[in-house]
Amino acid sequence: MAFVITSPCIGEKASDCVEACPVDCIKEGEDQYYIDPDICIDCGACEAVCPVAAIYQEDDVPADEQEFIEKNRAFFQN
Ligand code: SF4
Repeated sequence: MAFVITSPCIGEKASDCVEACPVDCIKEGEDQYYIDPDICIDCGACEAVCPVAAIYQEDDVPADEQEFIEKNRAFFQN
């Protein structure tokens, strides 16, 4: 289980989450930030500081944002 960054990050990229993450698993992509699901420890620190509420626990990702679960994972497989 991991936290997932979803569409409100696109074009926003506030980066507050990067500073908040204790295990440094949030990386910058071209269009948004991404969370490495293999490193995330599920602490929720990033979710608490996101100014656009783009971050969800994997189980709580809204139905219309489900594609971001795979998009986050795929970013770290390249
Ligand atoms: Fe980092 Fe915690 Fe957010 Fe996972 S839940 S990305 S460990 S701040």
